[in-house]
Amino acid sequence: MLREGLHYLAGHQGMRRLAATNPVARKLASRFVAGETLAEALGAIQQTNRLGMRASLDHLGENVTSREEAAEAADGYCQAFDAIAANSLDANISCKLTHLGLDLGVDVAEELTRTVAEAAARNGNFLRLDMEGSAYTERTVSMTKSIFDATRSVGTVIQAYLYRSADDIRDLNGRGIRVRLVKGAYLEPASVAYPNKADVDASYRRLADALLADGTFPAFATHDIALIEYVKDRARSLGRGPEDFEFQMLYGVRRDLQRRLRAEGYGMRLYIPYGTQWYPYLMRRLAERPANLLFIMGNVAREAGTARRSGTG
Ligand SMILES: Cc1cc2nc3c(=O)[nH]c(=O)nc-3n(C[C@H](O)[C@H](O)[C@H](O)COP(=O)(O)OP(=O)(O)OC[C@H]3O[C@@H](n4cnc5c(N)ncnc54)[C@H](O)[C@@H]3O)c2cc1C
Repeated sequence: MLREGLHYLAGHQGMRRLAATNPVARKLASRFVAGETLAEALGAIQQTNRLGMRASLDHLGENVTSREEAAEAADGYCQAFDAIAANSLDANISCKLTHLGLDLGVDVAEELTRTVAEAAARNGNFLRLDMEGSAYTERTVSMTKSIFDATRSVGTVIQAYLYRSADDIRDLNGRGIRVRLVKGAYLEPASVAYPNKADVDASYRRLADALLADGTFPAFATHDIALIEYVKDRARSLGRGPEDFEFQMLYGVRRDLQRRLRAEGYGMRLYIPYGTQWYPYLMRRLAERPANLLFIMGNVAREAGTARRSGTG
């Protein structure tokens, strides 16, 4: 129930406006978001690189409603590729097609995404097209394929909870397109996605097998220790070394595990989001682990209690 409520709130425009100026929401967001400016995000990447980890930079934004906003987002991504190169950072970029105008039409998003992918190619870098809700899956997979054919500099994300994912991975593997495997972060109906965690985890294992066997530098994006151990075992038994794949985790989530895997010699890339449009991203992170909400509410209540006791409330 709580999870569904948080997903509902993620898409609520009024709540999005309210949250933008609410100090509690902003504090909560700061755990998962590197800042509001590109300069802050570049600083977070630098720190990440110093720890021996790579980064994937995400300028937060989705479901834009005008071509101007989409074009501005595309310009921002091109500048970010230049800034990554100018600062010699080990980072690529992740973006959402609805940030680049997919709701306005496939042609709008395709033109802008191609421009960003060309900026990636010019810089010898890589653009990851994040996967959004199932209404966008087919368009995201097919745009990844066409832009890959033109630039060789894009890959995408496949969600283990979708029934269609084994077919998508077979297709993408056959074309040499890089895949990030995730469980999936959206609320989906049982007609398209496994409703039970055990089935999603089993699907993740099967898809990981396919990626380790035939994929091009696959990325296993999860904080689930059982799945991470599974991937490590399977990689070993297939003779895949740490240079053949990487793990990915979210900025601010399971830092202990990030460092441990790095110390074991595995490639680790952190997904580093920044920008003012953090509200839907934050709500999805809370929906993944509603305990985060209780933890923060507890902190807020404690701080309010301290303030009352010291007479400043
Ligand atoms: C690098 C990266 C990129 C992603 N890109 C996409 C994408 O493009 N499309 C998409 O649909 N999804 C994406 N996701 C989200 C993904 O689908 C899952 O929703 C998310 O990773 C949580 O699932 P999990 O595999 O970590 O396993 P879970 O079973 O959800 O979590 C395992 C453990 O990880 C920890 N944990 C997980 N989430 C949180 C959290 N929010 N806060 C604190 N602790 C947490 C907890 O200890 C939990 O017990 C991405 C995830 C990562 C790591």
